[in-house]
Amino acid sequence: MGSTTSPSDKIILVTGINGYIASHIGLILLQKGYIVRGTSRSESAHAHLISGAFKSFADRYQHAVVPDITAPGAFDDAVRSVHAIIHTASPVDFTLTSVEAFIRPAVDGTLSILNSALVHAGPQLASVVVTSSVAAVVDKWRQPPTHAYSEADWNTSGESVARETFTAPVAYGASKAAAERALWDFVATHEPAQRWSVSAVNPGVVTGPPVSFPENPEKLNETLAPIWRVYSGSQEMPPQIGGASYIDVRDVADMHIWCVEHPDQANGQRYLMTNGKAPPQAAADFLREKFPDRDIVEGTPGLGYRKDDYWFVEGEPSLVANKAYKALGVERFIRYDKSILDTVEAFERRWPGYAKNLKR
Ligand code: NDP
Repeated sequence: MGSTTSPSDKIILVTGINGYIASHIGLILLQKGYIVRGTSRSESAHAHLISGAFKSFADRYQHAVVPDITAPGAFDDAVRSVHAIIHTASPVDFTLTSVEAFIRPAVDGTLSILNSALVHAGPQLASVVVTSSVAAVVDKWRQPPTHAYSEADWNTSGESVARETFTAPVAYGASKAAAERALWDFVATHEPAQRWSVSAVNPGVVTGPPVSFPENPEKLNETLAPIWRVYSGSQEMPPQIGGASYIDVRDVADMHIWCVEHPDQANGQRYLMTNGKAPPQAAADFLREKFPDRDIVEGTPGLGYRKDDYWFVEGEPSLVANKAYKALGVERFIRYDKSILDTVEAFERRWPGYAKNLKR
């Protein structure tokens, strides 16, 4: 198995490059000296990135438009000559209305890129990293309510639950579990032929400052939109996403890149990426205290989380990222209050004065 420890001249393919997490990964890779090849469904993402987040690195950024990631051979050209692949593209859109709308792109997109890699990437390919989720791990229907989840756990109930009674978050979780299953099944089937390391990163609910901004805050991704709504004065507390385990986007990006740079250690591994529990109530409480001049929803202060350290709550499920802490050599990741402060400061820099909830 090859190694990708020296960035120069190495091409890293990142799918869904204009997404919240992927654009962070892409920027860090470019800052480290790699050549980044990003994919998106439309050409417009290319101009958006090289005039924005990747502006200083236009000479080392390549873009490939892949209109339909589920089509066989969709990534045949994009994978050529790459040293690593980070596959993040998958539907994260809670307005979708069917299980298939989540599962097909998640599963077929994963299989499509793996098959392209197998045949067309070339012998220099050293690692493939897939962005999974805690939603592929947590199975609240089958596990006891105090279960301490680890990388050994799987969400095996979500798909049948979503098919019986559709809700977008449950269907999303089912799609992440099905896609990651497809990944490991592929590895088992093709092990002798596939000479590269394969890893999965399983983040909780991701917050932290974006690097690639949509045209307005209403178009923020599913996990930053609730922070914007709280910060900008919505009087409705956003619903909690899943079990509200949290993680900062910068730590998530670092974990993906660590897997790329440590193919021997990361091979065959999945890594929970969480740092405790923080529902939207925690964001509201923190932002109300930090910005007393803003009108910020009150809800039930302190409800559902540990205000002193944002750790998991006793008597509830926990998902401690021991493996990831050890891999990255840290005791804890970025705390929730810092993640939220950095997020809203980034909003304010990008859209100054757009949040109109200053008290008179
Ligand atoms: P974004 O919505 O910002 O990005 C999602 C990306 O996936 C977009 O770049 C989009 O590409 C692509 N995509 C979405 N639907 C499709 C589709 N049907 N076909 C092809 N590409 C598609 O989300 P995030 O950055 O938050 O998520 C990125 C990854 O991280 C996903 O795999 C998600 O499941 C995972 N994840 C996210 C968490 C979070 O809290 N945000 C937590 C755990 C996992 P395009 O530019 O072409 O539209």
